[in-house]
Amino acid sequence: MTDLDSENLKFIKGVGEARAKLLASELDIRTPRDLLYHFPTRHVDRSRFYAISEFQGTEMPQLQVRGTFARFVTEGEGARKRLIGLFTDGHRTMEVVWFAGLPRIQSSIVPGKEYVLFGRPALYRNVWQMSHPEIDTYDAARFREGLRGIYPLTDTLRKRGFTQTLMQRVTASLLESPVMARLGESLPAEMTERLHLMPLTQAVRAMHCPANVADLQRAKERLKFEELFYLELNILRFARRRSMKTQGRVLGRIGPRFNEFYENVLPFSLTGAQKRVLREIRDDMRRGRQMNRLLQGDVGSGKTLVAFMSMLMATDNGLQAALMAPTEILARQHAETLEAWAKPIGLNVRLLTGSTRTGERRKIHAGLLDGSIDILVGTHALIEDTVEFRNLGLVVIDEQHRFGVAQRARMWSKSAVPPHVLVMTATPIPRTLAMTVYGDLEVSVIDELPPGRKPVETWLRYDDNRMEVDRHIVRELLAGRQAYIVYPLISENKKLSLKSLEDGLKRTRETFPQFEVCYVHGQMKSAEKEHQMDLFVGGKARIMVATTVIEVGVNVPNASVMVIENAERFGLSQLHQLRGRVGRGADKSYCILMTKHNIGGDTRKRLGIMTQTTDGFLVSEADMKLRGPGDIEGTVQSGTAFNLHVASLTKDGQILEVARNEAMRLLAAPRSVSSGDAAILNGELLRRFAKTVDWSQIS
Ligand code: ADP
Ligand code: MG
Repeated sequence: MTDLDSENLKFIKGVGEARAKLLASELDIRTPRDLLYHFPTRHVDRSRFYAISEFQGTEMPQLQVRGTFARFVTEGEGARKRLIGLFTDGHRTMEVVWFAGLPRIQSSIVPGKEYVLFGRPALYRNVWQMSHPEIDTYDAARFREGLRGIYPLTDTLRKRGFTQTLMQRVTASLLESPVMARLGESLPAEMTERLHLMPLTQAVRAMHCPANVADLQRAKERLKFEELFYLELNILRFARRRSMKTQGRVLGRIGPRFNEFYENVLPFSLTGAQKRVLREIRDDMRRGRQMNRLLQGDVGSGKTLVAFMSMLMATDNGLQAALMAPTEILARQHAETLEAWAKPIGLNVRLLTGSTRTGERRKIHAGLLDGSIDILVGTHALIEDTVEFRNLGLVVIDEQHRFGVAQRARMWSKSAVPPHVLVMTATPIPRTLAMTVYGDLEVSVIDELPPGRKPVETWLRYDDNRMEVDRHIVRELLAGRQAYIVYPLISENKKLSLKSLEDGLKRTRETFPQFEVCYVHGQMKSAEKEHQMDLFVGGKARIMVATTVIEVGVNVPNASVMVIENAERFGLSQLHQLRGRVGRGADKSYCILMTKHNIGGDTRKRLGIMTQTTDGFLVSEADMKLRGPGDIEGTVQSGTAFNLHVASLTKDGQILEVARNEAMRLLAAPRSVSSGDAAILNGELLRRFAKTVDWSQIS
């Protein structure tokens, strides 16, 4: 075997035909390079043995103990049958439990012989137990002292005997094989030297078998850098080509409609932040290059108005505008809002969603082509191929995270000169990250709420306090206001979600018999959804029971109570979004987070943040600190296909920044790239993205 990219894994010692097939089907590992880059997700410290007397609390992390099995007993019958081995380290005893594979285990373990067990001890009925530990004979275990990699495996692999131990052996034998000499270097030498990066071969080795923690750290840094550097190089290469080739329309005029709206229709004055952002957008759009701008602003900060006034800049220059929303409900609300603003100044707004009827749809298609529709609002139905505009000048995308880069790119293609793009989000993300996710976009921030808002008061309440909560809801309803009661979507289980919602609906109707209750969930037909929404928006229904479909954008200023059931199931930014549905009018509003009584300390702390601040930027910052960037990671990654293995866009912000600068530096001075370096760079771009850069052609 001489090639890293040949598909002959079976020749690696310990693999063979059957296991090679398993690796390919389960983990998509087909070549030696794939295997080398299949890194452990974490490492466990096997540098020392624990004494059972050291176990504390009710559960310990994964650790290893050394000792002997005294004897075995079988307990239970049928499916509950289990094998228990009494294991002693010479001083104390614990139980080792197996629920499966009993005959094999019992026949392979020799009582009295010294073994090393690796597993997670837990206290069960006052006895320390370890279930299904990894077992090695003492000698073999010594061979693997130090930091040991834990690899991502699948259930099928484990079932077929492909254990962590085996994975480790296989990787180790690959690391020893001559093919390693082919790995070479993936970055220009000048760069690795200047940035003090670990050489590639050494880094790959250290990822699998680090000598110590510092070694592992440096290896990770190197590989993260490499991954982010090529990501940036690819994005910037593309962004560069686009901004060179694609001129944007020059929207030079601030015209009659904008002024008329501003002077006669706008029912309030703009906040300072809204004014500033509108200036930024106007400057962008008259520069002659395509605008790509991200507008960040907390829930309720008035992004819709900014979007609309930006659209007026387009229509005043004889162009059309489109607004794309992630859900049908939200699209409909936007259409209503914009219609109310647009009608008095004689602009034609239309709504296009998946449920628009064929007849209406045809009319819309025609109106877009002949230019009689000025503003189109819709869901992703907007990017269907049949939708064509006469002259699309601006696309606004609300709550961007649900749309991917590819979808946005399709909007550009709707017009010979690509339209300006404004992306709006209430989930703030760091600047470099935003620029990476959106290519070469600019960032604007609305950091000010409209005046007169009373901050929403947030309570954390347990099931035991339900009476008090119910009384509070009744008080608000009697004062003429409305309330939301939200149930979590139980992921991957639509039936269960629906059940919790239906139970909630029943309970709500029983508890508040004097008030009309409506309800909305994601699986509802859209006509029914509309009907239910209308009941609430029109004020006929006073309580809305819903799943998170109302999370984004719903605007009913009279609603003053937001009850969130099983609040512990929501991420903080989701809770913040939900909370943003109230506090939109002049009345004092409340957000009540309901949980079971016995939530853990971490959950209480997390939810506590919600009771302490109403600032969305602080909430997401605290959320990131507390539990890592899970939520944001999710939203950032879901819409995009970055395919990162080692680096995290959100956690590795600093490395991302350096990587981006390095990529920019190279693209800015392509002539300084030697032919040897160009070969390395293009080799990697090709392998990772099937793209290359012609370094001699950039200028
Ligand atoms: P979001 O940024 O969450 O999308 P919206 O655009 O829905 O916020 O605005 C929330 C509410 O604030 C709307 O009812 C909107 O009409 C109102 N609003 C927007 N700008 C102002 C302003 N400058 N003064 C007063 N109210 C405003
Ligand atoms: Mg909004």
